[in-house]
Amino acid sequence: MRPFSFLLIFCLATSLATAQPNPPVKRLPRIAIAGLGIESSTFSPALTGEAAFHAKYGDAIFAIYPFWSPDSVITREAVWVPTIDGHALPGGAVTREAYESLVRKTLDSLKKHLPYDGLFYDIHGAMSVVGLDDPEGDFLVRIRKVVGKKTIISTAMDLHGNVSWRLAENSDLITCYRMAPHEDALQTKRRAITILIDRLQTGKGKPAYKAYIAVPILLPGEKTSTRIEPGKSLYAKVWPAAVQPGIVDAAIWIGYAWADEPRNHAVVMVTGDDKAKVTSTAEYLAKSFWDVRNEFKFVAPTGSLKECLDKAIASTRHPFYISDSGDNPTAGGAGDVTWTLTQILKRPEFKTDKGPSLIYASIPGPEMIKKILAAGVSGHVDGYAGAKVDARLAPPVHIVGTVESIVKGDVDAEVEASVKMGSVHIIVTQKRKPYHHEKDFTKLGLNPRTADIVVVKIGYLEPELYNMRADWLLALTPGGVDQDIEHLPYKHLKCSIFPLDKNMKDPDLTAKLVPLSDEVK
Ligand SMILES: [Zn+2]
Repeated sequence: MRPFSFLLIFCLATSLATAQPNPPVKRLPRIAIAGLGIESSTFSPALTGEAAFHAKYGDAIFAIYPFWSPDSVITREAVWVPTIDGHALPGGAVTREAYESLVRKTLDSLKKHLPYDGLFYDIHGAMSVVGLDDPEGDFLVRIRKVVGKKTIISTAMDLHGNVSWRLAENSDLITCYRMAPHEDALQTKRRAITILIDRLQTGKGKPAYKAYIAVPILLPGEKTSTRIEPGKSLYAKVWPAAVQPGIVDAAIWIGYAWADEPRNHAVVMVTGDDKAKVTSTAEYLAKSFWDVRNEFKFVAPTGSLKECLDKAIASTRHPFYISDSGDNPTAGGAGDVTWTLTQILKRPEFKTDKGPSLIYASIPGPEMIKKILAAGVSGHVDGYAGAKVDARLAPPVHIVGTVESIVKGDVDAEVEASVKMGSVHIIVTQKRKPYHHEKDFTKLGLNPRTADIVVVKIGYLEPELYNMRADWLLALTPGGVDQDIEHLPYKHLKCSIFPLDKNMKDPDLTAKLVPLSDEVK
């Protein structure tokens, strides 16, 4: 709790004690904060431990989002009770021990500060836990047992999260991003909070209706960007749908393709107080989604790695970006698959200093980092990196070259270095790290704007890279988040799903009303 929250409570107590109710003093709502966010692939051999969540406890949580800065309106409108908020880079499934430990800490903290008028449940929605289906639903059921049925719970999610029926039952308000890439992430969380505060302050309480429609579609994020059609027009329908009278919020979840659970499919949910409007709006959005299912294409032209490299080398457009999409660490790839880098280093074009310059981001190699630190900048190194976690496709890659730069202190990578081998600048890291921003490169002395080719373990390009690209191809490389999802070995999906089942009949897209959390047994 923040110090001035105590002050506000003190002021309130004083007002009541002196019996001067004009103007009436409204008690500030008590709102707890809890959440865990990760997107984790069950098709990757990697496992995620507790430390990966970089969990923040108590007041440290206020620093996560700017809307809890000391001078923000949101901060002043409630007595905030932060418990735990942890966000991990996407990765492999979370170990059961890590999950149970984080849940236990959350529940213990919630028990200490009861009661709550509201709770902000800050999740991604695509966490996989070893031996447990639907962790976010399980977590919320356990939170409910502690906070009780009266507390209004507002859940904010990534549109790549999954909404199980029990998550919907136990959330009173629920929403997700409306943009991919997620430029509206903060705006979404802020909306989830301001709606919660509004429902508490006005006494409107929980919305009377929650409509839920499971849409049997499963698509990778790289086909559903809202920058391009049909995602662009589909998601453009959400905002006007959400601001209609009688509607509190509306949301479409694409879902997460790289986990094999019954809850993995698209979902539409609409909340509000007007039953007819809530159900018809949900059905309109679900039908809109189903109607365009055949139009989703990859966000960039695709090809095999060989095709992409051939085109990039022959092109006059630079920097030419290539997404190494199968091991994208921000989708849940292990991040240390060496297959792509091994293929690049085999190409004759890059064998000498005079070849086209290529930046490769990145390959984790803690043993290699030791050698790099020992050699120092300008030193010569000879060692192996990668394939510690995911060696299914290629063994550790042999790197022989000159150390160009070393940077310490990154929150994810810890130590990063650039090693020049032929005409390739290889970024080697202590731990895996996504390279999404220009400064991720420039701080290592690399200039992605003047390089001929930049190969990044990523799916769709994040905005800074997208804006500087002269050209871009998405390489369909193998790995834990293989974009070719139609060939993934799913066993537990609930029903017939597009596009895995190409001949499926039109599904029932009638809205189901989810029981209010008060009624859940
Ligand atoms: Zn996402």
